This record gives sequence, C-alpha cells and structure tokens, in this order.
Amino acid sequence: MRTFLQQARETVRRCRRLAECTEEPGRITRTFLSAPMHDVHTLVRTWMEAAGMTVRVDGAGNIRGTYGEGPRLMIGSHLDTVPDAGGFDGILGVMMGIALVERRPPCSVEVVGFSEEEGVRFGVPFIGSRAMVGTREFHKGIDDAIRAFGLNPRDDAGLGDDVRAYLEFHIEQGPVLDRKNLPLGVVEAIVGQSRYTVRFAGEANHAGTTPMKTRADALVAAAEWIGLVRKTALAEPGLVATVGQLRVYPGAVNVIPGAVEASLDIRHADDRVRDRVARRILKGVECAERSKQPATPMDPAMVQALCAAVKATGNRVHRMVSGAGHDAMILAAKVPAAMLFLRSPGGISHHPGESVRVEDVAAALAVGTRLLDDWRPA
Ligand SMILES: [Zn+2]
Repeated sequence: MRTFLQQARETVRRCRRLAECTEEPGRITRTFLSAPMHDVHTLVRTWMEAAGMTVRVDGAGNIRGTYGEGPRLMIGSHLDTVPDAGGFDGILGVMMGIALVERRPPCSVEVVGFSEEEGVRFGVPFIGSRAMVGTREFHKGIDDAIRAFGLNPRDDAGLGDDVRAYLEFHIEQGPVLDRKNLPLGVVEAIVGQSRYTVRFAGEANHAGTTPMKTRADALVAAAEWIGLVRKTALAEPGLVATVGQLRVYPGAVNVIPGAVEASLDIRHADDRVRDRVARRILKGVECAERSKQPATPMDPAMVQALCAAVKATGNRVHRMVSGAGHDAMILAAKVPAAMLFLRSPGGISHHPGESVRVEDVAAALAVGTRLLDDWRPA
C-alpha cells in the first residue's frame, strides 16, 4: 500500500491535471456542464474505475462512483469553478474520496463529483447537490444545459436510501488555520446568512451652488452607516458583515447624491445572534430582505468521530465554523453530514494563487482512513 504522502502527491497532481480542463485558455474557468466538464468526467471516471468503483453520471450531471454494496458513506464535493479560479476548491474533496477508496476501506463508499456548486452559469448555486436531495427548482436553461451535455434531466439524481452519511473535505478558503499553523479543522457548523438592500434618501442638487450646511447627501449618510456596520460586527465574536455593493444616484461628479442603495451580507453560526445584530445594524434605515439562509450545524456524532480521528492521527483538534456555503449544507437536510477543512496557504481562494500543502493532504487522508475504518452505517 502506498504511503499517505505518496497518495497526497498523486491527489494534488490530479487536481492540477483537472485544472487544465477549462473554458478559458490560461485561466481555470469551468462552469456547470460546460464543454471541458466532459474531459473532467473522462479523467474522474478513469480514476474511479481503477479504484474499483462502478461509475455513473446522474440526471443533474453529478458523477458518482460506488465502492462496495449496501449502506454507504458518501464522500464528495464539486467539480465546477468560479471564473479565473484556483485548482483545489471543490475538486480536492472529490480527489480525496477517490484516494480513500484506493486504500480499500472496510465499508461501502460512494464518491460524488457534484456538477455545480458555485452558481456562476445560471446564478443558481448547488444545482448538483440540490438535485440529489430533491430541492432543485425547475429552470429551463438548466434542463437545456443538461440535455446539451448529453444527459436526460429526467434521469434519477436522487441520493438513494443506501447513502447514510456525507463527508466533505474542502480547503478552508480563509486564513484561520494558516494563522494558527494548523493543517486541519473540523467544521461544526456552516454559518447562516442574510442579505439585505438598504436605501438612503437625500436630495440631489448642484455640487457647486449648494452650501455644505443645507445639503442632504445620501452617500454621506450611507458612509456613516457603513462605519456603524463594521463597528457593530467587530463587537460580536464570530460575526461578519459586509457592504459589497453601492449604487449612487444620480452618480455624477458634480451632483450631490440624492439616493443610495447598499447591499448588506451578514453571517453567523447562530441564527439568533445574526438576527439580533442585523436588527441593531438596520435600526432606523429603510431596508428590504433579499435572502435568508439558516445556519447548518454539522452532525454532532460525525463531528465527534472526525475529532477523534484527527486526534488519533496525531493532529491537534481544532473545531471551527465555515463562513462559506458548501454542498455539505445541502446534504445535511437529508443525512448526517460533516466537513474537514484543510489549511489554505495565505488564506487564498477563488484565485489562481489558491493552493494546498501536500503534507496537509496526507494528514487529511490519514484522518479519512481512520474515520472509514471505524464508520458503521446508522
Ligand atoms: Zn467549494
């Protein structure tokens, strides 16, 4: 049997090989069922079959390899990317699943490469995993894309009764593990998030003839509020709040802003904390809620099992929260789900500079092997 380090090198090499399958030469861009996904499926299928898996592509374009019979653990992540991406977000989790099956685990395993998670092509994220748990909404463009890829959107994409739990390996995509100098983190919960549009009304007028004291400048009001957003978020441990978009009307250099629309994205692992802070931030401003996604706790027993495996393989146990959404969040609605984060060097992700350390991949493979050795279907 190859060592974890040898397998880790091969896993990273496979990620880099898949990164060559792209819509844009010189950049890694691979959206939902775009042409290069055919090459990705060919390679993934080859590796899965060599590892002893039976492979199929379901009606949502998810590639699924099954090892062994009966009740099983699903290991997976997504194969699509953001534009000008790195080579490891999502892809690493699928390659980890294949590497773990290559070690011939004592339990049945299904490895899945989800067709879509990022929401780039249709503005609809989690197409692959939502189809699997039965919450994908009908969308003609998506169905057409599935047909154009040579698949039938009516074909079964369901999870199936035999899948009893879900495990996802993913790069952290943030600086926390890197700063703490830790290779791995056990995810306890995926944050909930709320998005709002906030409006500030003022009075547009001539920038030269209107004295400062008589102005009602909507952008000045918005700027003061953005300062308050930061201050309030800093005072609440674990909370992040971001104003990422501003629309200024009429938006001319020589006109006092008469109206401003700002976005607010606010996240926390505890929905009550998020709601409480949102109320404080939004007090006295005109706002509309655009979306709301509750926090998703990971399965306590699986978190415990992951922590035990991390400890047993000689690593320090660090429990953490995921600030980004992942397929595990979708699967958690149907089966016990858990995630293991691998350090992101420099905290860089969604960027060509995204990377992962081979030694960290080896450590994660050791943890996964340990977990599979002890795993029994519920
Ligand atoms: Zn991802």
